[in-house]
Amino acid sequence: MLISVDPLQRLIGDIFHAEGCSAAESGRIAKSLMSASLTGHDSHGVLRTPRYVWWLHEGHLKPDQKLDIITDSGAFALADGCHGFGQTIAPQAVELGMRKASGEGVAVIALRNSGHIGRVGDWAEMAAEAGFISVHFVNVAGSQLVAPFGGVDRRLSTAPFTVGFPLANADPIILDFATSMVAEGKVMVAAHGGAKLPPGALIDQDGRLSSDPRTLYGSAPDAKDRGPRAGTGAIRAMGEHKGSGLALICELLAGALTNSGCCGPDKRPIANGMLSIYINPAALGVAETMAAEAHKYLEWFKTSRPATPGGEVLLPGEPERRLRAKHMAEGIILPDAGWKSICETARAANIDPDRYLN
Ligand code: NAD
Repeated sequence: MLISVDPLQRLIGDIFHAEGCSAAESGRIAKSLMSASLTGHDSHGVLRTPRYVWWLHEGHLKPDQKLDIITDSGAFALADGCHGFGQTIAPQAVELGMRKASGEGVAVIALRNSGHIGRVGDWAEMAAEAGFISVHFVNVAGSQLVAPFGGVDRRLSTAPFTVGFPLANADPIILDFATSMVAEGKVMVAAHGGAKLPPGALIDQDGRLSSDPRTLYGSAPDAKDRGPRAGTGAIRAMGEHKGSGLALICELLAGALTNSGCCGPDKRPIANGMLSIYINPAALGVAETMAAEAHKYLEWFKTSRPATPGGEVLLPGEPERRLRAKHMAEGIILPDAGWKSICETARAANIDPDRYLN
């Protein structure tokens, strides 16, 4: 199903508005979900709409929340997201980090109990646009999905790690990935008939590698009954022992230090914790030398000869920018089952999705 960007974004915003979010928040949610779809991360894109609405109905997400500052000491703050939408809470946390780093040069913001913050790269982009380097360790309390290196049982969340590095007069470097071999949403996309999983992305209870989404989602015939808790297998941590170790650090920094909670056996609503570091190169007097050295290095980095004929060395953030431009021009392709699920969610909110198709 090919659908143009503007009407789809309007439909998603209207769904959240009809479900009780303010117009401003609905617009933010739609923009953020669309940003993930545009940049090729369908896993965190508009296909998440039905799940977000379900979380709202269950009381796991609360509309229009404000960041609650628990501890504020110099360059450090601990803030509670009060289970508000991540699209409302995360930008408030970034604003706080940038405000502190503007004066101090550096800031550390420990965010707990935020609703799903979606594509973490959005928040690194927000900081980079204002000239700040940012580093984000994220975990997902209540979401046991990933087996650690050497294990088969789920002991980690998909715990993303993200860095934004601004470049004067050029697009920033945005490194942004889940520490699992694939983000859970990519298994969801595959379960909906979208892009297939890479071989060995999952592991079953007997330690056999798999790329069948049923390993995680079980085999319920109706897609809406499938949740990541329904299957018995797990997603594998990326990068063998190194990725598994980075995921563990994300759990500790984003889950324990923030007190958002690490991934555990208890069944609880999902919440993102995020430990973010903000650096203001301008305030530290290093902006000019940093920019000169970074540009020189990145130019050389890209001259590495391609490993495959016609290949190209890309910088983190480049694939997303290219896809965004392509999708803005051509529209978004959604798997039929995913579009159907969005339409059902719209109709349940008394919105006719067909109105947005012409
Ligand atoms: P991914 O595996 O697609 O990796 C993306 C990163 O790799 C980007 O930085 C991208 O620019 C870079 N990249 C991709 N191809 C490249 C190439 N050929 N050369 C150089 N760099 C390249 O990402 P993922 O692990 O599937 O994560 C998807 C999204 O899911 C991320 O935006 C992440 O923040 C999000 N996520 C969010 C949560 C949450 O709880 N909020 C949890 C997990 C993941």
